[in-house]
Amino acid sequence: MAPTSSTFRADVVLVGGGLANSLIALRLKALRPDLSVVMLERDRRIGGEHTWCHFETDVSPGIGGWLRPLIVHRWAGYEVRFPGHQRSLETPYLAITSKRLHEAVITALGKNVWLGASVSEVSPHQVTLADGRRIAAATVIDGRGPRRSRSLVLGWQKFLGQGVRLAAPHGLTRPIVMDATVSQLDGYRFVYVLPLDATRLLIEDTRYSDGDDLDHADLRAAIAAYAGEQGWTIAKVEREEHGILPIALAGDIDAYWREARAQVAEVGLRAALFQPTTGYSLPDAARLADQIAALPRITSAHVRTCAEAHSKAAWRKRRFFRLLNRMLFKACAPDQRYKVLERFYRLGAPLIQRFYAARLTPWDRIRVLVGKPPVPIGAALGYLSETSVIEDRTA
Ligand SMILES: Cc1cc2nc3c(=O)[nH]c(=O)nc-3n(C[C@H](O)[C@H](O)[C@H](O)COP(=O)(O)OP(=O)(O)OC[C@H]3O[C@@H](n4cnc5c(N)ncnc54)[C@H](O)[C@@H]3O)c2cc1C
Repeated sequence: MAPTSSTFRADVVLVGGGLANSLIALRLKALRPDLSVVMLERDRRIGGEHTWCHFETDVSPGIGGWLRPLIVHRWAGYEVRFPGHQRSLETPYLAITSKRLHEAVITALGKNVWLGASVSEVSPHQVTLADGRRIAAATVIDGRGPRRSRSLVLGWQKFLGQGVRLAAPHGLTRPIVMDATVSQLDGYRFVYVLPLDATRLLIEDTRYSDGDDLDHADLRAAIAAYAGEQGWTIAKVEREEHGILPIALAGDIDAYWREARAQVAEVGLRAALFQPTTGYSLPDAARLADQIAALPRITSAHVRTCAEAHSKAAWRKRRFFRLLNRMLFKACAPDQRYKVLERFYRLGAPLIQRFYAARLTPWDRIRVLVGKPPVPIGAALGYLSETSVIEDRTA
């Protein structure tokens, strides 16, 4: 229950109880137990409705260690399926559920988690709630999810997933991270399947699209049809989750940060911290949480400097991923996009691991580009520079 007096004080206020702020809360509680940390979340639970996955190789062993209590499923490897080939890879794949994250944050912060607390104004040392309550703090961290901006040019990975219980065991032992043998619709389409237990699956229909509209009814029907084709009878749809994730094509990260309110630290997707080709943000969020908790002084200004520097450095280092994304979204016909991924998945397993971890070496980059490209060369040349896409959009 949130306090009822109109002004409250804390050392750190986390605005938004999503993934990034939850990881920060857990790290602050573990490493800086002297600080009073309050989390404000407008919904009735922390973390919304999510299954967050990552490859074990996406994070350092140290981060893997402190994430371990949050891991609900661990699979020894995964599969991909394309019209031209299918493959099993041995990289472990891990899942955190929003239910587990909620429990962990509530255990760590107790009554300092305010649920149903919608924030209307955020400034460096004060947060105002929609009901007029205020909290003063040395540190305010804004993790309210993505911020729309003209400074970033994005495509979209959009999906709807259903947690289903089947009438009989499915027989899968590892996730199918991409089943692109399905008909290609609305860009690059694939189905993602996580085996949760012998009869339960998370089945997601995913599209890499130019537009950010998501037709829920259409994707539900597509999931039912896919399950039918696999010979699975759905006894019950137990839960649903959906997302429209940013895929970075180009942008001006300095301009993006100039749009943020001075001295307020933005984190998570709001800090443009995500793997540019998947839109996944968990590894970046975990790294930033570690960095923030290790700061010698934790104030709004120090956390802002840290988050901004981390975001800008990641954005600059990931230029190559944006180039690949432009090839995928701009140079390639939507129904041919699957060929880019099909070809990518013929490359060596260590390179694929480094790709997902956004840590490609110069030699990896050459390997990704050499050979017969699945996109027309003429079209590809037109999208080599980021400015061409930015100018296209502003024309
Ligand atoms: C369904 C789904 C599945 C995903 N799966 C993966 C995955 O497998 N792996 C991965 O790495 N990434 C995944 N992502 C991408 C990304 O990691 C998530 O979107 C992640 O939750 C982003 O973290 P965040 O903290 O930036 O934002 P969020 O987790 O979205 O948190 C923002 C929070 O702020 C709250 N909020 C917003 N406005 C206010 C306000 N005014 N007052 C109070 N609270 C407010 C929201 O209710 C929300 O809880 C997934 C995304 C979705 C949507």
